Order: sequence, then C-alpha cells, then structure tokens
Amino acid sequence: MHPPGVDLFCIFFLFPNNDSEETRAGTNGIFIALYANMQDIQRGMYMKVTIDRMQCVSCGSCWDSCPALFVQNADDSFSQIVSEYQEKGDLASSVELPEGMDCARDAADLCPATIITIVE
Ligand code: SF4
Repeated sequence: MHPPGVDLFCIFFLFPNNDSEETRAGTNGIFIALYANMQDIQRGMYMKVTIDRMQCVSCGSCWDSCPALFVQNADDSFSQIVSEYQEKGDLASSVELPEGMDCARDAADLCPATIITIVE
C-alpha cells in the first residue's frame, strides 16, 4: 500500500561496497522502483460525487442503481448523499469514496437530468 493520494513513489536501495571489483560493479548502485498505482486509479478509489440537487426530478434512478451512496430526501424528495458519505453534512457532496463504489458512475450515467458529477 501507499499513502492516500500518492500515485507514484520511489524506493531507493543502496548496496554496500564489496571487496571484489567484479561484485561491486554488479551490486553497488541505486535501484529505483517506481510503483504506479494504476489499479487504484482505475477503480476510482479517490473519487468524490456531487449532486446538483435543485435540478433533481426525483426519478429514483440513482438510489435504485447505487443505494449505498444515494437516497431520497424525506423532506424535498430530491436525491442526496447518504449520511455516511456526506462531506461535512452537505447533502449534495460526498467525501472521498472507498474502493468498490463503482455504482456511483452508473448512477451518474443514468441520471436523466445529468446532475450527478464524478470528481476524480
Ligand atoms: S437520477 Fe438524477 S434526477 Fe433521478 S433522482 Fe437521482 S439525481 Fe435526481
């Protein structure tokens, strides 16, 4: 694993000198390992979601296709982010979502009002 938000990092190894010239030439040096966390990028591990709630037509597509993230608000009937993932209590904005919340993309694609935005 790597720190959240870091897509690339380096690991440096410095091997000690050996007596043998041949061995030193073979082992002494710096090895750089680059790790590209492409899987996390592809999974959208750090995406956020916003809803332009005032444009919502309450069709239910988002909470049907992604109930882990969207729910109908009991007062105004518009879609909102479920309380677990709200950004500081904002009904319209999510925190960074965990791995596996791919249904959010489906909901955005299916929203007839095109008011669900994925922020990578
Ligand atoms: S899919 Fe879009 S229009 Fe339908 S309830 Fe969800 S946010 Fe509202």
